[in-house]
Amino acid sequence: MIKNNYHTHTRRCGHAIGLDEHYVQAAISAGMKKLGFSDHAPYDVSEPGIRMDYEDLEDYISSVNDLKERYKDEIEIYLGLETECYIAKWDLLKEYRERMDYMILGQHSLVFGKEDVYTLTNPAELREYVKRVEYAFSHSLCDCLAHPDLPMFSYPRIDRSVRKMAEDIANLSVKYDIPLEINCGSGAKIGIRSYEDGCRLPYPVRDIFEVFAEKKCRIMIGIDAHDPRDFLTDTYLNTALDALKGLDLKIEEDPDIIGEAKKRKEKYF
Ligand SMILES: [Zn+2]
Ligand SMILES: [Zn+2]
Repeated sequence: MIKNNYHTHTRRCGHAIGLDEHYVQAAISAGMKKLGFSDHAPYDVSEPGIRMDYEDLEDYISSVNDLKERYKDEIEIYLGLETECYIAKWDLLKEYRERMDYMILGQHSLVFGKEDVYTLTNPAELREYVKRVEYAFSHSLCDCLAHPDLPMFSYPRIDRSVRKMAEDIANLSVKYDIPLEINCGSGAKIGIRSYEDGCRLPYPVRDIFEVFAEKKCRIMIGIDAHDPRDFLTDTYLNTALDALKGLDLKIEEDPDIIGEAKKRKEKYF
């Protein structure tokens, strides 16, 4: 069991279940000390089943703040969002950055409303993905890169372009001192499946984390909870870690995500 988690969704996104309070109670039962909520950030266009509606944002904020207060003797709770880096939505992202305790980058599409990262298959798209990460890091948008290897969900093989993407992301992580996440969500839940050059998890991907290990990147674990019960099992954590077994990864057990977020916000805004 892990002691803290900054990657937690709520049912507002339309593909997670359970009440907000159930996530808190499950986290406490699991012995966690810090719980960060990071539901999928809304944009000005509704995307049901993918992210919360903008109309639900204030309810999300007040619910998390209420739980923060009510459970303060048992667990530290933080308000965050998982956002994409969309230049077209920058004003909204800036507003979120100011209001949240922290933010994580989960780049699920390259451009708002199109080019889904779950369907990428060519090297040019990997390069675009890296560009989004670079923009987010260099503009202090986020405090962690969630599932850095997300494009490997669909990318059919491990080739030179994948290694280049891994190196670029590793260099950015070191340059901006932003941790990369070992994600225990969908990739681990789907399990090993077949690609052009063999079988592997959709993510995390060993070859990519091998590069992160070589470059000594900061690494953290994210449960990516979409169900309160995700905190009560180690099954997916172990699946993710098994895929990376033997790598010399600098896994931080208690990264100072909130303290670092404060500094990044001061620096930029
Ligand atoms: Zn989700
Ligand atoms: Zn997530």
